[in-house]
Amino acid sequence: MRLNLQKADSTAVCAAELIKTIQSGSFLIEGPDKNTIVKKVLEMAKGLFCSGVKENTGYCRVCNDCQMLAKGSHPDLYRLAVAGGSTVIKIEDIRLLKERVSVKPFQAQKKIFIIQDAERLNVAAANALLKTLEEPPAGVVLILITPSISQLLPTVVSRCGRIRFFQDASGSDADFEKRDQLIAGFFDKNDQEAQKKLYEDIGLIERNQAGDLLRELVCVFRDMLMIKLGVEAVNFMSGQSGQTLRCWSESFSAADIQMLIDDALGTKDYINGNANIKLAIDLLIKTINKSRSDLSLLLR
Ligand SMILES: [Zn+2]
Repeated sequence: MRLNLQKADSTAVCAAELIKTIQSGSFLIEGPDKNTIVKKVLEMAKGLFCSGVKENTGYCRVCNDCQMLAKGSHPDLYRLAVAGGSTVIKIEDIRLLKERVSVKPFQAQKKIFIIQDAERLNVAAANALLKTLEEPPAGVVLILITPSISQLLPTVVSRCGRIRFFQDASGSDADFEKRDQLIAGFFDKNDQEAQKKLYEDIGLIERNQAGDLLRELVCVFRDMLMIKLGVEAVNFMSGQSGQTLRCWSESFSAADIQMLIDDALGTKDYINGNANIKLAIDLLIKTINKSRSDLSLLLR
């Protein structure tokens, strides 16, 4: 029985839970399907702003906040996109945004600013935004959306937490079972059978299967990070149970998990770029094993 992995709202709810735990911050969401990302971010905003009785989606749809968000008129959510025949976001647009950033939230705890065509920021606009990205005032969350970070200035990218948005996975139950078995091999260090099987199997998987595997691995790390941050997630992003995730997360620090997310994303890029699958994943397994703290051994 799978958890709500494919449920459309789980990503948005998890992101909302994560953003709830921070006072302020800047995030960069990268993914090929911008419309879907914007939709998810708006759902996340509902989860964050909803003042009604929440359904399992994380929001109620009927309270004042939900209705204003649905109409696009919530005073604490500001969207910036290219408009009016322009092909770039100009410095005047950013000046206006910064004025709004400096005002306290009207009715929510936080203000959310979505720059949904971040790749269209011209150089002057991007430079004008840097300080705000680096140190947003308390209660301000900036979310930049782009199909590819390669289209942004490195100075912008380096100031944001990066979130990679994936399409929902597809596949048969057998595919999921196989993938879960492989995932267990990454974490069950006492289960030599699983580790041995993992080394054998990664020599056999296809490139797209390797991509799916790493995608799930990133979701597992994200869930583990949520647990480390003390977020009681309603829906985990990965297909693993809360108990399993808690158990796996015990061997790692939050900082290590953050690093491993980057490593897993890097491995995914290498494999997309035609690297040898077995070598790339072998290296990742070694990195994961190295990051494991020996605290669990000391406690025995
Ligand atoms: Zn509501």
